[in-house]
Amino acid sequence: MSLWTEIGQRVFVRRYAFYDQNIGAILGDDGVLIVDTRISHRQADEILADLRELTPLPVGAVVNTHGHNDHAFGNHRFRPAPIWGHERCARMIRETGASQLATVALAIPELAADLAEVVLDPPDRTFDGEFDTLEFDAGAPPYFGDSYPIDWPQTVERMVEHVRGAVVPGHGTVGDRAFAVRSMTELRTIAELASLVHQGVLAIDDAVLRTPYPADAARQPLERALAQLAGTLEVSASA
Ligand SMILES: [Zn+2]
Repeated sequence: MSLWTEIGQRVFVRRYAFYDQNIGAILGDDGVLIVDTRISHRQADEILADLRELTPLPVGAVVNTHGHNDHAFGNHRFRPAPIWGHERCARMIRETGASQLATVALAIPELAADLAEVVLDPPDRTFDGEFDTLEFDAGAPPYFGDSYPIDWPQTVERMVEHVRGAVVPGHGTVGDRAFAVRSMTELRTIAELASLVHQGVLAIDDAVLRTPYPADAARQPLERALAQLAGTLEVSASA
């Protein structure tokens, strides 16, 4: 049985154990579009090998959903294919790629040798559309470490309008429109609770208990939302 799941006509997803990550492959007539490239050249080579279960066609293009290491650090192995990504995704890799590499190598020492061979290769086909990228974890709160929680609900709301079929999160189980709507509602709750705290109506400790997330995961999004409301949120380098 192939580990690729066909979620639409000629649209495939493969779920990798490392970070429980989803990689997309969309088959065209003379090439394949790959969505996200994993964290290292070694992991990217795994995608290329696994792709042979689907098709002998070459990779014609790559899309990076965003500039986090696990989505874009395998890019170089897909050249000479053009790599598409949002302008801010390309900038994130240019500006924070080296520090992301160092951070992950420290956090996961057994990956350090693989990371040492990574050639950072940001998207060369960029766009500045109205949609930002987003990422959800399976059954877990999304990663808020470099997020803008006040803007996020609106971003997802606009995305939800376009959802027809499956929703493939960066990590975890493939969902549907209801999943996207639920995620949007959760993000909106964070923004609303933060605004109550900002207005002095609610204590942050009470807000923490009222989020849809476990208490230990709720503080960071609330604090970032509060900083955003206070105008003190710096544009951060992602880890
Ligand atoms: Zn990720």
